[in-house]
Amino acid sequence: MTPKIEEFLVRHRPETPCLLFDLDILTGNYNRLRAALPSAEIYYAVKANPSAPVLQTLADLGSKFDAASLAEIDRCLSVGADPADIAFGNTIKKQNDIAAAYGLGVRAFTFDSAQELEKLSIAAPGAKVVARLFVDNDGARWPLGAKFGCSAEAACDLLIAAASMGLQPHGIAFHVGSQQTDLARWDIAIGQAAMIFTELRMRGIELVLLNIGGGIPVPYGQDEPDEADVTHSIQV
Ligand SMILES: *Cc1c(COP(=O)(O)O)cnc(C)c1O
Repeated sequence: MTPKIEEFLVRHRPETPCLLFDLDILTGNYNRLRAALPSAEIYYAVKANPSAPVLQTLADLGSKFDAASLAEIDRCLSVGADPADIAFGNTIKKQNDIAAAYGLGVRAFTFDSAQELEKLSIAAPGAKVVARLFVDNDGARWPLGAKFGCSAEAACDLLIAAASMGLQPHGIAFHVGSQQTDLARWDIAIGQAAMIFTELRMRGIELVLLNIGGGIPVPYGQDEPDEADVTHSIQV
């Protein structure tokens, strides 16, 4: 508990159960992550906590946003986020939602199937598309399983198809699973993504974005690796 939260509890005596969130801690965490990964841009996964004060704090700090739904996109826009700083990161979207997001100015979309690419080509012409690669989630306390992502071969084929459908092949995304305890997972996933970058470069397509997802563990006192070790390992 932070002193600020303690003081709030004493002063306001809110009914319980209640969830209190110290925005100073959020600011500290954002700044620490930015310093630890200086060459990266930070996209906040809105699903973690979509409340307006959290989004507002992050927008003011210059954070970008990864939204899983149109409702999350609306929440980001309502705190003044630039639509150019919002990625529609869910790989399974309704075509109407894609069109609505596009209408609001969102231009970056993640996908992992030919069906999704088809919807994007119709509802978001010219948009930047990012292929989500399936990677091994072993070592994660909350593995995302085989729910999202395609093979490296499919990612290559789909990004090539995207170009011929009038979309911009933009990059690769992966997620090693939440609360990942095995530092090797990022190395392996980044290596797999690098092969796709190389393969596509040989075919005349220059990808510019690698979305390394989440998975950096929160310390719950169960021998999680330090955040600094994870961010160091990602960059070597
Ligand atoms: C949830 C999510 C994240 C963040 O994952 P954590 O394990 O909570 O850090 C990142 N990217 C996407 C696409 C997500 O859905």
